Amino acid sequence: MADLPSLRETLDAHGLLAKKSFGQHFLLDLNVTRKIVRLAGPFEGRAVIEVGPGPGGLTRALLESDAGAVVLVEKDARFVPLLSELDDGSGRLTIVEGDALKVREAELVEGPAHLVSNLPYNVGTPLLIKWLTGPWTPHALTLMFQKEVAERVAAPVGSDAYGRLSVITQAVCEARVVMDLPARAFTPPPKVASAVVHLVPRVDRPDTATLKRLEQMTAAAFGQRRKMLRSSLKPLGGAVLCEAAGVDPDARAETVDVAGFLRLARAG
Ligand code: SAM
Repeated sequence: MADLPSLRETLDAHGLLAKKSFGQHFLLDLNVTRKIVRLAGPFEGRAVIEVGPGPGGLTRALLESDAGAVVLVEKDARFVPLLSELDDGSGRLTIVEGDALKVREAELVEGPAHLVSNLPYNVGTPLLIKWLTGPWTPHALTLMFQKEVAERVAAPVGSDAYGRLSVITQAVCEARVVMDLPARAFTPPPKVASAVVHLVPRVDRPDTATLKRLEQMTAAAFGQRRKMLRSSLKPLGGAVLCEAAGVDPDARAETVDVAGFLRLARAG
C-alpha cells in the first residue's frame, strides 16, 4: 500500500467527485482509516465485508490488516476501476458492484466474517436492521453512523436516546461507541458529526420469530412513548401481556430494559 498515490490524487486522477445521492462523504486520512480498522480487529484471518468502499481509504487499511479476504460492495460503479488498482492479484480482494441492501452476504464469504463500513447515511439504519435481523450473522460489525444514530444504537435504558433502535440492536449485540469524528474529518464534510459503533452479536441471540415480535412490540411502545404500556400495547395484549411478562403495565417504554422487552416479545 505504501507506494500508492494518496487518496486525493487517486480521486483526481479518475476525475471523481462525491455524489450526494449516494451519501458520499469520504475519509481521505489513512491515519483515521487505520485507527477504525484497529478498533474493528483483530480479524485473525477471517474475511471482512466492506460496504461502500468509495475511494478505498478503509479498504487500504483493511488490506494492510490480518483479514484473510476483503470483499467490497459498492453501488456506485464509477469507483470500480479505482478500487481495482488495489488488487495485487493474490485473490484476497473481491469487488462486488451492487446494492448492499440487496446482496446476500452468505454468498460472498465462507465462514464467519466481519462487517466494516463508513455507512452511507441515507441507508445506514435499514442496513443495520438487515444485519441484525437477517439470516446471515456477522462475527462483528464496526460501523460509522451519524453521531445521533450511533448514540441511539448504544443508548442505555432511561436515556433520551433510548428507543426502538437501541432495543433491537442490544437484543442481538453488545454495542459500544468506540470513536467520535467531527464533520471536518470527511470530504466533503456532512452537516453533522459522526461516530463509530462496534457491535458483537450475543451468543443468546433471539430467534427470528422473537425478533419479529420484538419489532412489533417496540414499534407500538415507542410509537406512543409518553403513554403507559397498558395503553400503548393494547392491540398486542395490554396489561395482561405485561403481567405475563413480569413488566409493570404502568411503566413507559423508555424505562423498560432490553430484557423486559424480550420477555414481552416472548410472552406475546
Ligand atoms: N468508505 C468510503 C470512505 O470512508 O471514504 C466511502 C464512505 S461514503 C460515506 C458511503 C459509500 O457507500 C459511498 O462510496 C457510496 O457510493 C456507497 N453506497 C451508497 N449506497 C450504497 C448501497 N446501497 N450499497 C453499497 N454501497 C453504497
